[in-house]
Amino acid sequence: MSKTATFYEVIIIGAGAAGLMCAALAGKRGKRVLLLDHAEKPGKKILISGGGRCNFTNRFTTADDFISNNPHFCKSALARFSAHDFLDMVKTNDIAWHERSHGQLFCDNSARDILDMLLGECRAGGVCIKTHTDIQHISEENGFRLSTTQGNFSANQLVIACGGLSIPKMGATAFGLKLAEQFGLNIIPPRAGLAPLTFTGTEKTSLQSLAGISLDVCVRCNGQNFSEAMLFTHRGLSGPAILQISSYWQPSDSIHIDLLPNIDIPTAISIWQQKRPQANLSTALSSLLPKRLVSLLCSALIHDNKLEKIDAKDAQKISAALHDWQLKPNGSEGYRTAEVTVGGVDTAELSSSDMQVKRMPGLYFIGEVVDVTGHLGGFNFQWAWSSGYACGMALQRSSE
Ligand SMILES: Cc1cc2nc3c(=O)[nH]c(=O)nc-3n(C[C@H](O)[C@H](O)[C@H](O)COP(=O)(O)OP(=O)(O)OC[C@H]3O[C@@H](n4cnc5c(N)ncnc54)[C@H](O)[C@@H]3O)c2cc1C
Repeated sequence: MSKTATFYEVIIIGAGAAGLMCAALAGKRGKRVLLLDHAEKPGKKILISGGGRCNFTNRFTTADDFISNNPHFCKSALARFSAHDFLDMVKTNDIAWHERSHGQLFCDNSARDILDMLLGECRAGGVCIKTHTDIQHISEENGFRLSTTQGNFSANQLVIACGGLSIPKMGATAFGLKLAEQFGLNIIPPRAGLAPLTFTGTEKTSLQSLAGISLDVCVRCNGQNFSEAMLFTHRGLSGPAILQISSYWQPSDSIHIDLLPNIDIPTAISIWQQKRPQANLSTALSSLLPKRLVSLLCSALIHDNKLEKIDAKDAQKISAALHDWQLKPNGSEGYRTAEVTVGGVDTAELSSSDMQVKRMPGLYFIGEVVDVTGHLGGFNFQWAWSSGYACGMALQRSSE
């Protein structure tokens, strides 16, 4: 690297949700901040998030909404900068918003409002943002020295905010994880999260025949369950319930689907038997489930019969089958469509109060690159804001 390197007090790599939040705060607290990104513009994932309306936080955020090897790690950052603190920012900036189910908060107009707010905060903090910048080399020697396609830079504090591996088309790279490895940090093996599940063989063919059907179910896997909508697709299963469980699913696991949560099936059968004893079970079930699904279930899972011929034992069997439909995915759609990456830089390497690497003062990891992954519903952005804030405040304090 040439000897001339422009000095900044803080260099942040990754102008996404976490990097912008951290940069704005550090800048407004008087730090000289350089924010670098290899993409042509900042905040690309913010713009496409929430179907273009950005589910920017969740009113009910708690540590239980996150997956991590250390489930307590996120608590400190979430307490310092909560969903309500972010909502206050949104209100202060006159961004119109609304609440959907399960406490999910969205922009009324466009995700662009959130990005513009963050860029405005960065401008107010005098942050220098350089896009189209590839980082070629980073070395640590009395601080950090970066060689990039836009020149050489040095800083005594370096923040890695370059996100996870999901959606390479949007600029996702393994840069943060590789850098962590370069510095000898432990990585929790990454995998795609919040992704549709795929199937092979007869299961795939059967599910394909149901493509387009959506229904409310409760899906279980590995001790977790989610009650939300499930969607049959040409490749397998999707919809919020499946995306949520995919973050817990591991290869060779089956998923357990309760097709009629909250319905006591033996009671329903006995009511149908009194009303229409001559009718078939499939006809009666079609009042609760889509017809195409009922016909698949009757060919593969349960025995169709006249209602009057179903005894108590049969009713229990039907109930067990419909409350616990077991399917074995062969995989997920992976990083191509996954909303997040589960795993990342091991939280055991970081201080939970400021995201600093314990054995490398001056180096920080924030946002999705860290092994903290939210459920669907605004939690991933909340982690980006909270971890960015915790770090941004620490950068301020370290200069005092
Ligand atoms: C389609 C989609 C919809 C989503 N919707 C929501 C939602 O509504 N609510 C929610 O909470 N979460 C949502 N998420 C998840 C959320 O977008 C991420 O969790 C969040 O953006 C993570 O923030 P981050 O700053 O850590 O990473 P990112 O926002 O991904 O930012 C990382 C930045 O680093 C840059 N970068 C990567 N590699 C390099 C490199 N080698 N050199 C330089 N720069 C690099 C990238 O260009 C990017 O700008 C969604 C994700 C997707 C994919």
